[in-house]
Amino acid sequence: MKEVFRSSDAGRVGLYQSILEDAGIGTFVRNSSTQQTLVHSAMAALFPLPDFWPALCVVDDADYPEAMTLLRSVNDPAPAERADWPCAGCGETVPGNFDTCWNCQRARDGKRPS
Ligand SMILES: [Zn+2]
Repeated sequence: MKEVFRSSDAGRVGLYQSILEDAGIGTFVRNSSTQQTLVHSAMAALFPLPDFWPALCVVDDADYPEAMTLLRSVNDPAPAERADWPCAGCGETVPGNFDTCWNCQRARDGKRPS
């Protein structure tokens, strides 16, 4: 079992899961059953850790490379053309398929978020 994707957005996790299942890859989502209760509990407010986010996993580790390739192609149709870029706001290196900084949300061209 290997995690391929994790997000606080359960809809996106579900979308990716259906993409992998359509490709014949066995998957399951970890934490999806506990998230509803955690969101409404004091624990979630005190410890808003990504551990509570639903995580999409492949059942068979052998499917991991194919799963990552599939999800990458969904996220970014032309990965080779997009190099990682340094954020002008915080200096973090941002993956090329992101148009805004994952850390401070500044746009690739250096503009502040509106
Ligand atoms: Zn930044």
